[in-house]
Formats: sequence, structure tokens, C-alpha cells
Amino acid sequence: MKQEILTALEERVVTRIREGTDELVSLVTELVACDTTARDPGDPPRDEVKLQQVLAARLRALGADVELFEPEPIAAGHSPTIPFDLDFGGRPQLVATLRGAGGGRSLVLNGHIDAVTPGDASRWSSDPFKAEIREGHVYGRGTCDMKGGIADFLFALECLAREGVRLAGDVTFCTNTDEESSGAGGLALVAHGVRGDAGLCAEPSGFDAWVACRGYLIFTVTITGTMLPGASKGCWWSGRSRQSSRSRRMAPRMGSRRSMALTAPPSRQCGAGISA
Ligand SMILES: [Zn+2]
Repeated sequence: MKQEILTALEERVVTRIREGTDELVSLVTELVACDTTARDPGDPPRDEVKLQQVLAARLRALGADVELFEPEPIAAGHSPTIPFDLDFGGRPQLVATLRGAGGGRSLVLNGHIDAVTPGDASRWSSDPFKAEIREGHVYGRGTCDMKGGIADFLFALECLAREGVRLAGDVTFCTNTDEESSGAGGLALVAHGVRGDAGLCAEPSGFDAWVACRGYLIFTVTITGTMLPGASKGCWWSGRSRQSSRSRRMAPRMGSRRSMALTAPPSRQCGAGISA
């Protein structure tokens, strides 16, 4: 079996990362303390600005060109997952570029700063916004998805800089809002011009490197029929039986689609909206 041998420089970087565990955990704790729970259009801002400013300050200290900006709203109809009235007021996106020495390929490091709701606080064994270290694990809302990964990216760049490493290609570190809710933040970054020859996303993957992920397809089926009261005996929509039979015909085909070797098998989700 081929044995990986690190160069002396690589060894120093790895050692610095290993010895910096406390500093890394401290950064994760600082990010978790920012309440960036995903929110609906019209909800007041949370701590999105505060969190992005924590990252921006450290990135500026590394010599990065940092942009912190509130994009224009994503145009209505751009994606069916994005509410038409969503805007980025109080939800800035961050793009920081570390210029390479030249002649190398560029790399994008991306993560989302929003986290899903902590839900019922009484079911937490500790404050979800006050990270606790227990038995070698950090507990707090968003630690895994994905403030831990964002902190990893930043800390890795800091360790490289402390060892005097300047990569050949540019590195773009970018963090966005609105991933959990709609995907609008990621689209805003692309619209802003974020590009790279390769990219790493800090989405949790069980410490495996995933080289591909599933996409999704959203479609709307319009059924013409006569609406009936929900309590009616039999169908509540005269078109339903037709829709059901169509769904039944589609379902096996979607489920049996050959799964890509690098991704999980396909899955289906179904939602219903009625306009009368
Ligand atoms: Zn995530």
C-alpha cells in the first residue's frame, strides 16, 4: 500500500492545525452564538451581520479583499423555491478573495451561515446558541450544518498564512444566507460573479469527501376539475383521480432511475397547492 509522505512544509501546516484545536473550537463557538436561524420574508434580521463581520475581520487580517453586500432581491420567478417578496435587508453576503501568487487554478470555499430552527428549546440539553464541549463534541445549533465547516475553511487559510504559504491560484471564501430556506443566497453569490476552477462546500458529509450531490427538479402539475368541499364523501377534487393515476404512473419511473455512482438514489417529495 502506498504510504503518503508529507513534505516538511505540509507537516508543519498539519501540526499547526492540530495544535490549534482550541482556537478553532473558540471560533465555532463564536459563530454558534450568532442566531442566524433561517427566517421568512418580513422577519426582522437576526445576527447575520454580526456573524459575517466576525468572518470579514479575520479575512481582512489575512490580506483578503472583502466584500460584504446586500444583493438586490432575486427576481420573482427565478426559482420556484424563492418567495417573491424575499429581500436581503440585514442579510449580507460575504465574498473574500485571497490573491494567489499567479499561475495556479482558483478555488472557491463556500458555506451557508443560516441554520434551521432549534425547535422546542426544552428538548435541548443546553442552550442551542451557547456551544458546549462535551466528550470531544461541540453541541450548539448549526455546529454541524455548517458553522463548523465554515470555521474549518477559515482556520485552514489562517494556518497556511501563518506558515507563510501563498497558493498559486486565487482563493475565494464566500458565505451566504438563505440556503436552508430557499437557496437565494447561493444564487446571489453566483449572480455577483463568484466563479472558480474548483470548489469546496462545507456541507456536512460525515467526514467523507463527496464529489457530487443530487440536484432537484420542481414541476407543477395543473389539473382542471371541479372543487368540492373537503368533507365531501369521495373525491374533494374531481380531477384528483386523474392526478393520482398520473402520479402512480410517474412514481415508479422516478424511483427506478439509475442512481449516479457518486450520489444517493433519487427521492421524491410531493406538495399540493390549490387555487380555485
Ligand atoms: Zn447545510
